[in-house]
Order: sequence, then C-alpha cells, then structure tokens
Amino acid sequence: MKLDVIVVGSGQAGIPLAARLARAGKRVLLAERAEIGGTCVNTGCTPTKTMIASARAAHVARTAARLGVRAGPVEVDLPAVVDRKDAIVRRWREGAEKRLREGGERLTLVRGQARFTGERRIEVAGDTHTADIVVLDVGARPAAPPLEGLERVPWLSYETVMQLRELPSHLIVLGGGYIGCEFGQMFRRFGAQVTIVDVVPHLLSRARTRRSHRRWRPCSATRASASSWAPERKGSPVRRAASRCDSRVGRSCAAPTC
Ligand SMILES: Cc1cc2nc3c(=O)[nH]c(=O)nc-3n(C[C@H](O)[C@H](O)[C@H](O)COP(=O)(O)OP(=O)(O)OC[C@H]3O[C@@H](n4cnc5c(N)ncnc54)[C@H](O)[C@@H]3O)c2cc1C
Repeated sequence: MKLDVIVVGSGQAGIPLAARLARAGKRVLLAERAEIGGTCVNTGCTPTKTMIASARAAHVARTAARLGVRAGPVEVDLPAVVDRKDAIVRRWREGAEKRLREGGERLTLVRGQARFTGERRIEVAGDTHTADIVVLDVGARPAAPPLEGLERVPWLSYETVMQLRELPSHLIVLGGGYIGCEFGQMFRRFGAQVTIVDVVPHLLSRARTRRSHRRWRPCSATRASASSWAPERKGSPVRRAASRCDSRVGRSCAAPTC
C-alpha cells in the first residue's frame, strides 16, 4: 500500500503523531508489534505509579502513629496490588486505542513487527507498504547491564518485576536512576529488603559515562549482600555511596519505616 506516512510504534510519541497526521488529511499506517500504548502505558509510567500509590499507602499506614493515628498491623496483599495495576493499565490502554480510532479512516493500525525491506519500504504482518515519510517511534526496551554471571540467574526486568505476585525477601536493583529508585522504594515499602547497586557513587546521577568499563557497586545500607559482585576496596567510593544514599533517598530503600 502506498501511504503518506508510516509510523512504527504506538507509544507516547507514535499515537499522537499518527492521529494528528491522519486528522490533517494524511494517509497514515501505524505499526505496533506489542500492546497499544507502548512502554508508558503498559510497562512504564502507568503501572509503576499505580504500584507506587499502593506502596505509599502501606508506608503512610505503617508510620501513621507518629501523627497520632493507630492503624494496626500493615499487611501488603501483593496479588491485589498487581491486579489493581493490571486493571488500570487495561483502562489506559483502552484510552490509547480510543485516541487511535479518533484518527479516522485515514489511520490504519497494523499489528506486527515492522522491518525495512528497502528505502521507505516497510514490511509488517506479511504486507509491504511504502510512504514518503517513515517515522521510527520505537522507544525503549529493557537492557541487561554487562554483569558477569547475570545470564546464569533468572533476573527480572522492569516489565517482569511488576508481575511478581510473591514478595521477594530481598531485591537487588541494578541501577540507581529514577526507575531503580522507584522500584527500590516501592519494594522496600511493600516489605522486602532492597539493595540498589550502581556504577556511580551516588543515586539519581545523570552523568552516566561508559558503564561497561565501571564496576557495579551496592548503594544502600544493605550492600553486603552484593559484595561478591563488587568487592569493597580500601578507598573505594562504596562507603561514600552508602552514606550519601542514606542521606538522600537511602532511607526509603534501607529503613523499614522509610
Ligand atoms: C519503568 C518505567 C517507568 C517510567 N516512568 C515514567 C514516568 O513516570 N514519567 C515519564 O514521563 N516517563 C516515564 N518513563 C519513560 C516513558 O515510558 C518513555 O519515555 C516513553 O514511553 C517513550 O515513549 P515512546 O513512544 O518514545 O516509546 P515507547 O512507549 O517505548 O513505544 C515504542 C513502541 O514501539 C513498538 N515497537 C518497537 N519496535 C517495533 C517494531 N519493529 N515494529 C512494531 N512496533 C515496534 C513497541 O512495542 C512500543 O509499543 C518510564 C519508563 C519506564 C521503563
């Protein structure tokens, strides 16, 4: 089929772009290989924020006594948290699908893995399409850090960790960026021990330089459990990392009452 625009990926970028172009009179094909809505709706912003809301409720209930409120023992029902998250994600996904329908007849959604077969030529779901403009809005996907031995353990990604229905006794989070900190705080508030490990000596660093040449270090008060991955050396930044972590957001990942 010959089109004006092919957009690959139905995430936060792809949907508004495809819908607006179609409403502006362009013939648009939107290709999506997975769920409509992309990372944000399905495995990113929406699910994390719903689970963080549950974790915060547990935290507030657990610490209510300091405000003069007795809440009783706090128990987190992780399957219920996950079910609520899944229901909200479904609703948001339906909202994304509705936005696509608003693109009208000029917007065609094709489900499948898109791939180039030539210049401005895309094959998806067994058909080949051409367009004057092809926009790649293929977004994000989990990346495994270069950590020896990781391939031998059943590690979780940001996608699969939110499907856990049983609380791990201890979670090691690789990466102290905003996503790692969110998961660290969330699971700590659910009741797990959490250790955040990173290559840089402080959390939420945006200056991530050449990870592959640096060692992954534990970055919380419970770092001993990860020491086999990053042995502490005299004068290494590990100790500084632990104390900074405690003073900034570390309390939320290391202290039982956050
Ligand atoms: C755990 C987590 C939490 C986050 N929290 C926040 C937050 O709170 N606030 C915030 O602003 N941002 C957050 N983000 C970031 C946000 O999710 C992304 O910035 C945003 O989703 C990027 O949108 P996108 O459209 O560029 O890509 P995506 O949403 O990743 O969409 C890309 C789409 O392309 C599809 N695709 C890829 N390749 C192909 C192919 N070959 N053929 C067909 N389809 C293909 C994918 O299936 C996907 O649906 C979070 C991310 C993560 C991982």
